[in-house]
Amino acid sequence: MKLETSETIAVVNINNKSYIVPMWLEVPVGTKLSDIEVIRPKKVDKNPILINEMVKGSKDNEYNVKIYKDGTATCECWGYKRHRKDCKHIKKLRLQI
Ligand SMILES: [Zn+2]
Repeated sequence: MKLETSETIAVVNINNKSYIVPMWLEVPVGTKLSDIEVIRPKKVDKNPILINEMVKGSKDNEYNVKIYKDGTATCECWGYKRHRKDCKHIKKLRLQI
């Protein structure tokens, strides 16, 4: 059988019944782990990066700015890290798009 899960699974036998844990899916008695083909679900990135650019700062240093699909942005400068809101680099990149 095929099972789509991102979990690590095991087969347990309780009261003459077999189950796949941790989802407690009942399977035919005697099913072994090797009978199960585990399919790993594809990771869906719900908030992909739309723009990933290096933005020049005031002292010729460059900062990696990422703008995401939901409109949020991150920057690697200390200003962003401290305040967690749009820094001048993010604002600069937003003006270009
Ligand atoms: Zn910044």
